Amino acid sequence: MPVPTHHAVVLGGGLAGILAAHVLAEHVDTVTIIDRDDLPEGPEHRKGTPQARHTHVFVEGGYAALEDLLPGITDELTGLGAHQLHHPADILVRRPTGWRDRMAPEVGIISASRALTDWAIRRRVLAHPRITVAPPATVVGLLGDRRRISGVRLRDRGATDTRRLTADLVIDATGRSSHTHDWLTELKLPAVHREHIDSGIRYATRVYQAPPGTPATFPLLLVEPNPASDRPAVAGMLSPIEDDRWILTLVGPKHDPPPTDEDGYPPFLRSLADPILADLIAAATPLTPPYGFANTANHRNFYERARFWPDGLLVLGDAYATFNPIYGHGMATAVLAAHALRRRWQRHHPLLPGAARRSQRAIAKVTEPAWRMATAQDLRLPHTTTTGRHPGRLAKLNNRYADRMIAAIPGRPDLQRASLRVFALLDSPLRLFTPRVLWQTLRGPRGQYLPEAPLTPEERRILTPASETTADS
Ligand SMILES: Cc1cc2nc3c(=O)[nH]c(=O)nc-3n(C[C@H](O)[C@H](O)[C@H](O)COP(=O)(O)OP(=O)(O)OC[C@H]3O[C@@H](n4cnc5c(N)ncnc54)[C@H](O)[C@@H]3O)c2cc1C
Repeated sequence: MPVPTHHAVVLGGGLAGILAAHVLAEHVDTVTIIDRDDLPEGPEHRKGTPQARHTHVFVEGGYAALEDLLPGITDELTGLGAHQLHHPADILVRRPTGWRDRMAPEVGIISASRALTDWAIRRRVLAHPRITVAPPATVVGLLGDRRRISGVRLRDRGATDTRRLTADLVIDATGRSSHTHDWLTELKLPAVHREHIDSGIRYATRVYQAPPGTPATFPLLLVEPNPASDRPAVAGMLSPIEDDRWILTLVGPKHDPPPTDEDGYPPFLRSLADPILADLIAAATPLTPPYGFANTANHRNFYERARFWPDGLLVLGDAYATFNPIYGHGMATAVLAAHALRRRWQRHHPLLPGAARRSQRAIAKVTEPAWRMATAQDLRLPHTTTTGRHPGRLAKLNNRYADRMIAAIPGRPDLQRASLRVFALLDSPLRLFTPRVLWQTLRGPRGQYLPEAPLTPEERRILTPASETTADS
């Protein structure tokens, strides 16, 4: 008798889909990835991931989990030119009351173009003999019934008809444009609870060649929004990426959006709470026009709460939950979800009856901290719209505590470390309520934020006009 073979289909070849395929390949005979794009052979931009034109920082909780999934990937990325930077040593942050001082490294990020990050991960994963990428096709529906999903309907590129592809497991990782919610109602399953919390922020991003003489270890600079100001959601961030380039993202709300035209971009940049980013960019060469992005809402389909969940279906990455990108948690959460699935499937095979539902719960669990952080912050903004949820008394108390803790950080490295580790998704948010953190928060700051960005003299040199540099030397 032939031994049955198991086939899984992953919808979407973005970060979440690629990593889902990686962990699945240990448990099934073949994994087919379906994407409507050709997945490029190099670090190139593609149409299916428009957000990839914008700043993508990879927080340590995410890249540490990635390292566990793909050992050596951090070195591979830095070898390709990605920058590994650390709070507070080389990530300079301007809070509403001044700049955070530089201190010994605590918590890392990886800064690179999204095209580079995705490609480095993709080429590692696609080397697996059980993983195949199908020719480009758009998935248009699910096959099966309310008890079990048995495959997908797809339309090959250039075709008018659709075809069926059967599978023992379907994983939806089609990102923000996922249709699973609607496809499930077509199969007569009850609609699943979803939440949509939209601060309406807009992104505008440009890539620059860094000025000649920029130190290879140049820091990342972030001018944060000031919730108490009359422009509570305007911010800017400059990050070094591969090939001596800088990526600069400006952020603003719907009624005060960062311009996407070349004339409007510089004045908006200069209007930030600190002129440092404008001064740095003055000496850099633009390589791209400003690209805009408006679809920045927090959106979550609470599939884990569904009354009925069919076997054979899982949803992860942005297809399950998206976050306001300003918090930089989307990629990390996708990795943490893949990591959670690997841990779960090491004990329980993914094709067992009921396994999909339990795996969906594991995804929900690792998504929760990022979801709570992003939505709690956004619900404070006056222009945020929500499909129902409003901050309760506990949330307001939490916000007051978080503000007090941030204000208490100067001169308190323990407090800084605790908050950085939670924000990097390395520690549970409960770590912000230990007796030590509570005590230090109540006592208040022991130092002050700085009036100017703490650049080193070498870093500052690129701000100096060329004539003065020559006279100095
Ligand atoms: C402006 C912006 C900035 C961001 N910055 C950060 C950051 O700094 N740090 C961070 O961690 N996260 C950031 N994020 C979030 C991050 O981009 C996402 O969380 C991450 O890309 C999710 O990966 P994914 O694989 O789920 O989705 P995606 O990367 O969007 O991939 C989805 C894939 O599915 C394919 N697809 C879609 N529909 C279909 C279909 N019907 N049929 C076939 N294929 C389909 C697409 O072509 C694509 O390849 C940012 C997001 C935005 C919008």
